[in-house]
Amino acid sequence: ETMPADADCLFCKIVAGDVPADVVASNDRVIAFRDINPQAPMHVLVVPREHYGDIAQLAAGAPDLLADVVALADEVASEQADGQFRLIFNSGPHAGQSVFHVHGHVLGGAHLGWSPA
Ligand code: 5GP
Ligand code: ZN
Repeated sequence: ETMPADADCLFCKIVAGDVPADVVASNDRVIAFRDINPQAPMHVLVVPREHYGDIAQLAAGAPDLLADVVALADEVASEQADGQFRLIFNSGPHAGQSVFHVHGHVLGGAHLGWSPA
């Protein structure tokens, strides 16, 4: 199933190369680029090239693509940090989701605290 790129979607624009990003890894299915407002020494976003709104839609519609997102997160953590990472998917505005193209936050490079609220 191919979802149409949303003309107003920031991450579709980054995938298309229409908005610049600091890309650290990519393949034909997933792209990884640095968050513009990093919350840890390593803060990279892993984004499927195909548009899905959130992690539940991605898991239901393309579970193999979700696995590809996790695999690229692991690869980025090995290249950019010590291989250890936290992978966060905010789902919905109350959880902090502000871009409605699914993305995993890959955080690491330090001993991370735990204060989600
Ligand atoms: P969310 O709040 O949806 O979970 O995460 C969106 C993330 O995208 C935020 O951490 C924010 O800093 C990041 N972000 C927003 N706009 C841009 C942008 O234009 N470029 C990059 N690289 N990151 C962005
Ligand atoms: Zn999109």
